[in-house]
Amino acid sequence: MGLIETSRSQAKMPHPADPLTLSEIVENGLCIGCGLCRSIAGPGDVDMVMTPEGRERPLALRALDKPTLAKINAVCPGTRIAGPPQMNEAALADTVWGPVERLVLGRAGDPTVRFVGSGGGTLTALGQFLLNSGRVKFVLHVAASRAMPMRTERRLSFDAAFVLEGAGSRYGPAATLVDFNDILHRGEPFALIAKPCDITAVRNLARLDPRVDEHMRYALAFVCGGASDLTKSEQVLQRFGLREDELALFRYRGHGNPGLNRIETRDGRAFEISYRQLWEDEDKWMIQPRCKICPDAIGQVADIAVSDAWLNGGPALEDEPLNGIIVRTKRGQELFDAAVEAGVLGIKRESGIAEISELQSHQVRKRRAIWARLKGMAIAGKPVPFISDLALRECAVQNSLAENLAEGRGARDRARRGRLGEPPAMPRGTVLRDP
Ligand SMILES: Cc1cc2nc3c(=O)[nH]c(=O)nc-3n(C[C@H](O)[C@H](O)[C@H](O)COP(=O)(O)OP(=O)(O)OC[C@H]3O[C@@H](n4cnc5c(N)ncnc54)[C@H](O)[C@@H]3O)c2cc1C
Ligand code: SF4
Ligand code: SF4
Repeated sequence: MGLIETSRSQAKMPHPADPLTLSEIVENGLCIGCGLCRSIAGPGDVDMVMTPEGRERPLALRALDKPTLAKINAVCPGTRIAGPPQMNEAALADTVWGPVERLVLGRAGDPTVRFVGSGGGTLTALGQFLLNSGRVKFVLHVAASRAMPMRTERRLSFDAAFVLEGAGSRYGPAATLVDFNDILHRGEPFALIAKPCDITAVRNLARLDPRVDEHMRYALAFVCGGASDLTKSEQVLQRFGLREDELALFRYRGHGNPGLNRIETRDGRAFEISYRQLWEDEDKWMIQPRCKICPDAIGQVADIAVSDAWLNGGPALEDEPLNGIIVRTKRGQELFDAAVEAGVLGIKRESGIAEISELQSHQVRKRRAIWARLKGMAIAGKPVPFISDLALRECAVQNSLAENLAEGRGARDRARRGRLGEPPAMPRGTVLRDP
């Protein structure tokens, strides 16, 4: 059942008989640029473009027919967001945190992976273990583009060394699912390591395409505070007077926890700023609009979700390598146990809902705010995603009435002023002419 109870006279909701067009999804701020619609419609019909705002967005090259749009609306993580099916069977079912089989603080067993990885290298270690143990043939994730290292590309890794190359957080745009249909067409077992919204998209597709459950053996997510615009990364370049075509490396973090944002140029110069310097000014985070209404940034639909675990409330220059590891499904539990048994993962200690809520207090605030934000958007007449099984109303009840009203009114007013939307998708460098 959808939790966003709004009539279609109030706001347009994705509906099979009257699906949103790609432009409507984008311009209403619902697109996160995963690329799945391009994979469904085909590269001849939909292109992914880098917009002037620094977002990867789909651009329909011709008018898409209704059946294609209906399919896109059914799978797009901007229009359809379903929660985990296993809530009732989980060892622990928390209103905010969702299903939990086990929650620990831990990290990769291998010191190189621990160091190179974003936090403690848990996701990289799991990806490598899945390959080395023969459980999957390849891992679908992302990595820095070799040609343009500030950009991020989807990556298929067939061995442990390649998985390690993709370690680290890529904060800018990342179209993980841009050719997902081709990946399914390979007919080989694989694992997906990605953002929660990427996994939402793939779980949506699984309802329409049996190949997803047949071939995708594991879905692993990181807990996600939001994807920033490429423009955010470009501001770092401006700080050092650099051009993108000079770059040989653009690493957001990793090589330590959190490690430095490090830039290297082709002519051998290197520049670094700390994680705190990168994110010190919240007004300049440039987080994409879809992230501000994200009802599942904590990876409830993954088999395992992995977070940062900065025990002192935030990162110092160099923290111990560590992750929060939320095992969410029985399949994830079996994988986690086998990885620990093989020494691929090390457990520091058990954790719990109280501790993860403290370490990730921004995620708790967000889960409690989303229901009211979506209500506010709907009241402003904007389309909202169809959301099910994510306990949004129950999370909102943990807020006071005054807090909910403030969130709802704030979103309504921002939506009315167009602040939750986006300009039409167009490639950078497009010259607009008067008609
Ligand atoms: C945009 C973004 C926002 C984040 N916000 C939070 C937060 O609010 N709270 C929190 O606890 N943690 C957040 N993280 C996650 C955190 O930075 C670590 O990635 C996470 O803790 C896993 O650490 P790890 O050492 O296991 O990762 P690693 O072992 O380094 O593995 C990371 C894996 O994630 C994949 N990946 C990286 N970036 C992307 C991307 N943009 N899209 C798809 N896949 C990607 C890589 O390909 C790699 O396989 C965020 C990460 C990103 C990219
Ligand atoms: S979120 Fe993904 S599927 Fe939806 S419109 Fe954007 S790129 Fe396409
Ligand atoms: S906050 Fe949500 S929508 Fe934004 S990148 Fe993260 S998972 Fe995706």
